[in-house]
Amino acid sequence: MAQAKRVQVAIVGAGPSGLLLGQLLHRAGIDNIIVELRSAQYVLGRIRAGVLEQTTVDLLDEAGVAARLHREGLIHDGTQMAFGGKRHQINFRKLTGGKTVTVYGQTELTRDLMETRHEEGAPTIYEALDVSVHGFDAKPVVRFHKDGAEHEIGCDFIAGCDGYHGVTRASVPAAAIRTFERVYPFGWLGLLSETPPVSEELIYCNHPRGFALCSMRSPTRSRYYVQCSLDEKAESWTDQMFWDELRRRVDPEAAESMVTGPSIEKSVAPLRSFVAEPMRFGKLFLAGDAAHIVPPTGAKGLNLAEHDVRLLADALIDWYDHGRRDLLDSYSADCLRRVWRAEHFSAWMTAMLHKAPNGDEFDEKLQLSQLRYVTTSRAAATSLAENYVGLDRV
Ligand SMILES: Cc1cc2nc3c(=O)[nH]c(=O)nc-3n(C[C@H](O)[C@H](O)[C@H](O)COP(=O)(O)OP(=O)(O)OC[C@H]3O[C@@H](n4cnc5c(N)ncnc54)[C@H](O)[C@@H]3O)c2cc1C
Repeated sequence: MAQAKRVQVAIVGAGPSGLLLGQLLHRAGIDNIIVELRSAQYVLGRIRAGVLEQTTVDLLDEAGVAARLHREGLIHDGTQMAFGGKRHQINFRKLTGGKTVTVYGQTELTRDLMETRHEEGAPTIYEALDVSVHGFDAKPVVRFHKDGAEHEIGCDFIAGCDGYHGVTRASVPAAAIRTFERVYPFGWLGLLSETPPVSEELIYCNHPRGFALCSMRSPTRSRYYVQCSLDEKAESWTDQMFWDELRRRVDPEAAESMVTGPSIEKSVAPLRSFVAEPMRFGKLFLAGDAAHIVPPTGAKGLNLAEHDVRLLADALIDWYDHGRRDLLDSYSADCLRRVWRAEHFSAWMTAMLHKAPNGDEFDEKLQLSQLRYVTTSRAAATSLAENYVGLDRV
């Protein structure tokens, strides 16, 4: 016999989407529970995004979880584009009338959200196995196993915040959903190290050997990436091999001044563009990576996820406070406008910066021309900057 419980909103997945949604609803007095497949420690061990748009920072402020972010986050006025052996700055602050981005690791953001949820006594079930969702066209139910027992949560709404490989999107009847996908023929090999970043700003490098990115998590912790083939294994790269390859791809000044050290983590990530439409199925709402994926070149994945959550929280609060359903009804269309803008920007950045495995010199010349354009034309640089820091309206 299943152990039964009832809440207003059941959230599947305790990544940044699920945790932030839980926090916004909890603060609005909406009873919610999060059901997560993995352990809290496993969730915190995933090294992922690091660049937050101002609107994401504002949302975290509103959720009451941004104190450490303001102390430790690094505000970036711009970013650097390296090609042809030289570096060029795109100054966000000047080009967008004062907007910037904040570098703060997804791991840290997740930790802040988890700790706040724990302190405020809102429930999260970690290591919930065989999670399944049912009845979202009428009476939604979430079922799972925990410590050998069967559990059932009845709810008014289910939020599918369980990422690309999750169960919620997979539970929607095939005829009710359309998906759009592009898988890129390369990946990113990432290395995290306890070393000072080579530059105060991120450096995006276009190089004949392939793309590289110099990023960071703090003044003492760096995150670097090199474009690699899809079948590359992180274990076959020694730290020295990684540093040597990175140095070949960055500009000479960065290669000279780069401080190297042992890796804390090394992993390969595939690059994918993916959108599922719509993002609502009766009383099931998808948010974040459950509904869409962007290649990380545009630093949009986490920001898009939190934007969905903003709209979903507003819609649910409006429903519970005022009985209005118009925001619930427009949720999917409202999210998808921003999603497709981010899909375009991320695919465009990816095409401009990566070496196409089947490309030729013509492709390289086009990339260099585009890079010269975005680093010399104010209009082109403004377009890049506006998209990178996040558009107010889409
Ligand atoms: C390797 C990698 C590198 C990335 N780098 C960047 C970057 O540099 N910049 C950027 O902006 N974005 C990056 N992203 C994207 C960014 O991390 C995501 O957009 C963000 O994590 C989305 O948050 P989410 O909560 O929607 O999904 P997730 O973070 O994927 O969280 C989903 C949660 O659901 C849980 N779950 C899955 N299945 C189930 C189930 N069946 N039952 C219950 N729970 C389940 C998962 O364990 C997970 O905790 C990266 C992503 C990856 C995978």
